[in-house]
Amino acid sequence: MDASPRASDGPPDAVRDAAAAQGAAAGGHGADVAPAAEGVAARVDSEQAAGPTVPETRDDAAADSSAAPTPAAGDGHLGAAAQSSREACELAKHREHGNDAFSRGRFDEAANLYSRALQLAIMSPEADRSVLSTLYSNRSAAFASLAQAYRNRPAETSESSALYGMDPMHLAQLALNDAAKAVDGMPQWTKAYSRKGLALFLLERYSEAEEAYLAGLGVDPTCKALQEGLAQVAKVLDAAKSTVKRQRSVNRNLDELECTLCLRLLYEPVTTPCGHTFCRGCYARSTDAGNKCPLCRTVLHCGRALPITVTLASLISRAFPAEYQERKEEEDASAASRPVGTAGRTSSSQDTAAINGVVTMPVFVMNSVLPFECMALNIFEPRYRLMIRRAMEGNRRFGMAQMGRNRQLESVFTEVEITECSPLPDGRYHIEVIGRRRMRLRSTSDLDGYRIAQAEPLSDELEADDVTPPLSLLGVEVGAGVDTLITRLRTVGGTNPGVREVLQCMGPRPVPGAAEADGADARERTQTYLERLSFWTAALLVQVSRAAVRFELLQSTSTRSRLLWCKEQLGRLDNTERCCIM
Ligand SMILES: [Zn+2]
Ligand SMILES: [Zn+2]
Repeated sequence: MDASPRASDGPPDAVRDAAAAQGAAAGGHGADVAPAAEGVAARVDSEQAAGPTVPETRDDAAADSSAAPTPAAGDGHLGAAAQSSREACELAKHREHGNDAFSRGRFDEAANLYSRALQLAIMSPEADRSVLSTLYSNRSAAFASLAQAYRNRPAETSESSALYGMDPMHLAQLALNDAAKAVDGMPQWTKAYSRKGLALFLLERYSEAEEAYLAGLGVDPTCKALQEGLAQVAKVLDAAKSTVKRQRSVNRNLDELECTLCLRLLYEPVTTPCGHTFCRGCYARSTDAGNKCPLCRTVLHCGRALPITVTLASLISRAFPAEYQERKEEEDASAASRPVGTAGRTSSSQDTAAINGVVTMPVFVMNSVLPFECMALNIFEPRYRLMIRRAMEGNRRFGMAQMGRNRQLESVFTEVEITECSPLPDGRYHIEVIGRRRMRLRSTSDLDGYRIAQAEPLSDELEADDVTPPLSLLGVEVGAGVDTLITRLRTVGGTNPGVREVLQCMGPRPVPGAAEADGADARERTQTYLERLSFWTAALLVQVSRAAVRFELLQSTSTRSRLLWCKEQLGRLDNTERCCIM
């Protein structure tokens, strides 16, 4: 019993007594249990000194090994008794091996062993509530620790050796299910509340986590683990409170329709995937630096430009026409005084400034994708399962970047959009993406095991209009060449589903806009079209000819050199009997 490192967090007396009684009654078998438990505890201590990765839970499960009693066996004269004795031994063996795996940091193995012990315990008529609760609690700890380990693993480590495993959020949900069963089974056991609090914390359900810790402190107000858990939740909730002004305005009628960020009537309301509503401008400004909901701290990957919640906007403007008009005038005035974003060629209005400024997005590190290019991906790493799930709840976009030399991310990458997403039964995702726009990387940081990039859109350099041959002429040639290629692909590759899929996914090729008056503006618009044409053609070419030059094409800021590459490739394909490898 003295193996328990924290008395206040240990099992209740009833369980200890049962374990002690079992130790005395079961003779040789009981003697087996105790030293093993001590051995585990000793190893845990030495590992902790070396640097614990999951300090909250590691020692606890080891301590639990002494807590759950193995039912004392009879002499074995009766068949049924022998059978149940064998099962009890099996159960104890799985549980001990589970504790051992846990203390070595092999949490998935520990969870499996606890599951096996649980199967036996559920079948056994002798296993009481304390046995079940302890096993549920231990398995909850194993799931939670695995989720934490996945989230804390540096992105850089995963880039050199990828893991295969479940989404950390899914694991946290499993941890919560088990913790809830442990609480139900033994409502006076503080550790069960501590497990539940941690699982809810990992699920980003902070208010419920707070409730769980408080419920546990209701049982034992002195419990250290619960106090620490509560403090951790309070820190997150305080961060939310500091961005959100909680005071109430004088006008009670408007309370519900008030933005928690500016405390004014909601203007152009936007709603986050977590269900919170803010003014569009307030939301865009509040997510400049982070990617968490200002109100509940849920991680969001939805960019800064959320669509306006139209029904709510029209309800507000009809219910409070004067106030809404006043808000509109205020916003217009402050938008006019705000400096306009400078990045990108077309950042002329407030809207495009929000879109073209520095944005934050999650990054999938694999290889480069060109704008317009389609790609199918199999998502199996735990960190990316989490990232894709968050992206699907948000704007379905993320960055795809490639690792350069010196293990550094290449500075140019592509924002892609998920066009198809099939979650597989084992928790993997099969997704299809299409390249949307090029980004220049400013900096990266880690979030739950994957990378977050701060980046801004990248465009080609505007070419002077006295270069010969004119860029537009090159565009006409490439346009004609690619049209011929499409026709050939449709006839030759008409029966090839790959070719049809590629053309379908990429959509129609860009065409020049309506002719407008001459001038710098028209020249700019023409080059924007030519840049799009060069990428569309290049994307088609790399997909049908498997050319390994994606990154060079992506990185270049010369529309001309990209069009020249396209022209050369089109000419080469034209002279080949088989027009494509596909
Ligand atoms: Zn607001
Ligand atoms: Zn929220």
